[in-house]
Amino acid sequence: MNKPIYVTESSLPPFEDFADEIRSIWETHRLTNMGPKHEQLRAALKDYLGVEEMDLLTNGHMALELTMQAMNLRGEVITTPFTFISTTHAIVRNGLDPVFCDIDPDDFTLDTEKLEELITDRTTAIVPVHVYGNVCKVEEIDRIAKKYGLKVIYDAAHAFGCTYKGKGIGSYGDASCFSFHATKVYNTVEGGAVSFRGLDFWRSLYKLKNFGIRDEETVVGVGANAKMNELCAAMGICNLRRIDEDINRRKKVAARYRDWLENVPGVKLNPIQQDVKTNYSYFPVVVNEKVFGSSRNEIMEELARHQIYARKYFYPLTSEAQCYEGMFDVDQTPVARSVSKRVMTLPIYPSLAFEDVDRICKMFLSLQKKID
Ligand SMILES: *Cc1c(COP(=O)(O)O)cnc(C)c1O
Repeated sequence: MNKPIYVTESSLPPFEDFADEIRSIWETHRLTNMGPKHEQLRAALKDYLGVEEMDLLTNGHMALELTMQAMNLRGEVITTPFTFISTTHAIVRNGLDPVFCDIDPDDFTLDTEKLEELITDRTTAIVPVHVYGNVCKVEEIDRIAKKYGLKVIYDAAHAFGCTYKGKGIGSYGDASCFSFHATKVYNTVEGGAVSFRGLDFWRSLYKLKNFGIRDEETVVGVGANAKMNELCAAMGICNLRRIDEDINRRKKVAARYRDWLENVPGVKLNPIQQDVKTNYSYFPVVVNEKVFGSSRNEIMEELARHQIYARKYFYPLTSEAQCYEGMFDVDQTPVARSVSKRVMTLPIYPSLAFEDVDRICKMFLSLQKKID
């Protein structure tokens, strides 16, 4: 009997590596509040991700929420509904109105051709998502943002280690928010980071992640608490040593899937983007039932019968979430709607065996029906 296969498996360093890394914490009793591990990891990540500045937080969601707050945004924010619910929640929890732009049917990121028409005199920012590690049209977004004086905050939760034209993905836009959640390509158990330029923004963000405290006797803002602790930072230090190996192994798993599923009629795979180094964080497949002969749901059910659990990233759209019922018109993002009904992400992680990929693909293809 094969063991169950989930969409991902969290990367862990060898136990001894972690034990060695945290030993000093037992000597210093320094557990949190921007200690030495926090600072070591911050410097290492700045370097690895190729960004000018970076701060570490408790998770990717707080990175998004506090970045928007630190920028003092007002009014409307243009974003994508084809993302994890966190992106939209962060906008709404800042008292901002999300305005949903449709996505590109090929790479699933914001469709920049439909972006400009959504800008009003209330628009203050754009929050695009590098979904699945696919890089957004960063140059076009930059051009539009400059033209209208808008801030650009990338949700880079899927894009750890991705580069565009040789530059770290976090160096585009005004800020980029990363997630180091257990399920992501790179994890600190829970964790997140913001990359940005300029010390003014940093001061604002730093205060917000630490209760709005300026010094021992002065509280200057209504801040939250979103500091990364030393144990999480230590996990991050260990996992960073193995990240290139992990991404390389993911690349091989993705290639194995491609060997099976590329050029299958009715099955659309993730595009290979020009000038992009991706991280193979997900393996999305969009199924056209009329051509393939079976639906996304039927394929998922067949896999689940064999204890293989693909996921519907992203169904439903965030604009269709129950908590937002009646607030948004989902017909305004028809491509996102159509993709979300047909997309599934297949299991991908460094330790996934090729034999399992083969098994998954054979099951998948067994549902292909000849239509004449
Ligand atoms: C994971 C994720 C987040 C939230 O990150 P957490 O670290 O889990 O808080 C935000 N946006 C996207 C697209 C994500 O996948």
